[in-house]
Amino acid sequence: MNKQKQMKILMDREKLSSTPTCPACGKNFSLGEIVVPACGEWGTAPKLVHEEDAIFDESSGRFIERKCYEGNLR
Ligand SMILES: [Zn+2]
Repeated sequence: MNKQKQMKILMDREKLSSTPTCPACGKNFSLGEIVVPACGEWGTAPKLVHEEDAIFDESSGRFIERKCYEGNLR
C-alpha cells in the first residue's frame, strides 16, 4: 500500500546533474521536485520522471509513464 509513497524521490543536486531532463515530457527537472522511477517508451529499465508524468500500476507495483500506460490500454 505504501510502496507508491516509498518510490517517490526528491530531486536533489546529484540526481539533477545525472538526469537533467525528464524523458517523459522533455522538460527540465528542478531542485525539490518529486520524481518517480518509471518504465515507459524507453523500455522496462526505470527512468526518473515527474510524478505527474507517471501512473502507478497497482498490478505490477510500479510506475509507468502516462503516455505508455494509456497506449497499452488502447
Ligand atoms: Zn516530466
